[in-house]
Amino acid sequence: MKTFALTRANDSAQAIATAAKATTAQQGAEIRFIGGGTTLIDLMKLNVEQPKTLIDINRLPLDKIETLPDGGLTIGAVVRNSDLAYHPIVRKSYTVLSEAILSGASAQLRNMATTAGNLLQRTRCMYFRATDMPCNKREPGTGCAAITGANRSLAILGTSEHCIATNPSDMNVAMAALEAIIHVRGPKGERSIPIADFHVLPGNTPQRETVLEPGDLITHVTLPPPAPGSRSLYLKLRDRASYAFALVSVAAVIQRDGTGEVAVGGIAPRPWRVEAAEGELPHGAKAVAGPLLTGARPTDDNKFKLKLVERTLGAVLAEAREAKA
Ligand SMILES: Cc1cc2nc3c(=O)[nH]c(=O)nc-3n(C[C@H](O)[C@H](O)[C@H](O)COP(=O)(O)OP(=O)(O)OC[C@H]3O[C@@H](n4cnc5c(N)ncnc54)[C@H](O)[C@@H]3O)c2cc1C
Ligand code: SF4
Repeated sequence: MKTFALTRANDSAQAIATAAKATTAQQGAEIRFIGGGTTLIDLMKLNVEQPKTLIDINRLPLDKIETLPDGGLTIGAVVRNSDLAYHPIVRKSYTVLSEAILSGASAQLRNMATTAGNLLQRTRCMYFRATDMPCNKREPGTGCAAITGANRSLAILGTSEHCIATNPSDMNVAMAALEAIIHVRGPKGERSIPIADFHVLPGNTPQRETVLEPGDLITHVTLPPPAPGSRSLYLKLRDRASYAFALVSVAAVIQRDGTGEVAVGGIAPRPWRVEAAEGELPHGAKAVAGPLLTGARPTDDNKFKLKLVERTLGAVLAEAREAKA
């Protein structure tokens, strides 16, 4: 691991001004915020990330979970994943979020990991983490070892000829179904970004993963008020029962009349939500899977995900129906 300077931020304006000196907010940025460090330090030990300056944001007053006047919820950027998952309002009214977070990582990691850090966690594509292999995301222009290599766990949708990595976060999938808004403070002021617009597809620039610019600090995330009588749930399918990333996961918020919002994880570079497919929810999983998977480009080794998506959706919809019966 290369040497780096660590500064502790007591003031967000100062932290933003320091981070704004970086040339990018993406992969390779020389100045980085650090939350729990469970992604960043991991990648620094592998020499995948080599920032020169880390700005520790854990002392900033961004650690609260509070209800909003409209009945929604605001979640600070440095709220720990455990605190969020076990918060009584989240367990009761945003069950999908609690279930998604608790399905990921381990208790120790969740005690460290933050809301913002989870939103920005990097892909688990094995070639991204191996500095002796070509990877366009880690080192633009070197090629993509995964396209002809081990890609069983990688994406079937939203990919490009330059990268087929997935977004590995469970929390992000729940946030997508809940239509979370991500609030950012940067050198040019504040802005609010719907989660659907936050992560970008790889296209020709797989090193770019979000719309963040240098100096942009995620301050908090807001969730809309829960619809009365709705049921929300998360189902994650993976190779072993714990400590594994999703092959396919489904986050769903289902209303009394069978309509709702659904996001799928483990299949794309961002949580995959297709509003046209949601129109088919009352007609069952097969009807939803059709429009949801339009344009899928699986490899020989991950085409099993097509059927797995339909089956996971089926199980989630059946459970939602049962809960209402
Ligand atoms: C062994 C292992 C297993 C795991 N299993 C799972 C799993 O099954 N499911 C799952 O979803 N996740 C899993 N994870 C990933 C884990 O959830 C993430 O590492 C964690 O959520 C990252 O949060 P953090 O606060 O530690 O991020 P950090 O490492 O602190 O930061 C991550 C990134 O976010 C940036 N950042 C942090 N805060 C801000 C901010 N406020 N504004 C702007 N940028 C910011 C940092 O600069 C960095 O680029 C696993 C991790 C490990 C190590
Ligand atoms: S899929 Fe993306 S992250 Fe994986 S090797 Fe290819 S370019 Fe790198």
